[in-house]
Amino acid sequence: MSTFTALPLTESMIKNLGTMGYDEMTPIQAASLPHVLKGKDLLARAKTGSGKTAAFGIGLLHNLDVARFRVQALVMCPTRELAEQVAGELRRIARFKHNIKIVSICGGVPFRPQQISLEHQAHIVVGTPGRIEQHLLRGTLSLKHLTTLVLDEADRMLDVGFEESIMAIMDHVPGRRQTLLFSATFPESILALSRRFQTDAEHVSVDVAH
Ligand code: ADP
Ligand code: MG
Repeated sequence: MSTFTALPLTESMIKNLGTMGYDEMTPIQAASLPHVLKGKDLLARAKTGSGKTAAFGIGLLHNLDVARFRVQALVMCPTRELAEQVAGELRRIARFKHNIKIVSICGGVPFRPQQISLEHQAHIVVGTPGRIEQHLLRGTLSLKHLTTLVLDEADRMLDVGFEESIMAIMDHVPGRRQTLLFSATFPESILALSRRFQTDAEHVSVDVAH
């Protein structure tokens, strides 16, 4: 097991992780974070409960420029519940960063409050592909300044039928970006997604949970 101090993170990040009880990295975090922090594309496989959120979240938050009020990172999740969980975990990891704004936009809830949140500028958007696509089509969300894109639980997103929305969203993101793809399984459909949207991706696979 290695501790977070092995990574090139700020002291305030490491201190905050300590207050969360995160001292040692989980295996997927130890395998992923060095690549994520270097800005590399990553295709990562690990099962539920292995700490995937922090495996990408610590990297997103480390690379984020709070002074730039633009959406710099987008995290896509298969369900509203998972998106809310990810947004909550990102807010906890970012607690030491003042004025950071993380907005979650998912289907099944009214459109207007989300639009107002986005108008007030967000640094990170977390949501489900269908509603993200709708905001892009309405012009209430811009991803022109995106630097990092995360597909979380990518196999489940394909299973629930979000492939078309994901493809549509990809038309709105800059070509030069970091793309992180997390999945519990690597079926051919996921490998195809990686070939299509990632560049020179590092592959990591972890079987144990903690
Ligand atoms: P996954 O996305 O792989 O299902 P999560 O990111 O939801 O996993 O994390 C699972 C649980 O592990 C959460 O309760 C989280 O707070 C905890 N956790 C994550 N990383 C660490 C760590 N380095 N040390 C201790 N607990 C952790
Ligand atoms: Mg998860």
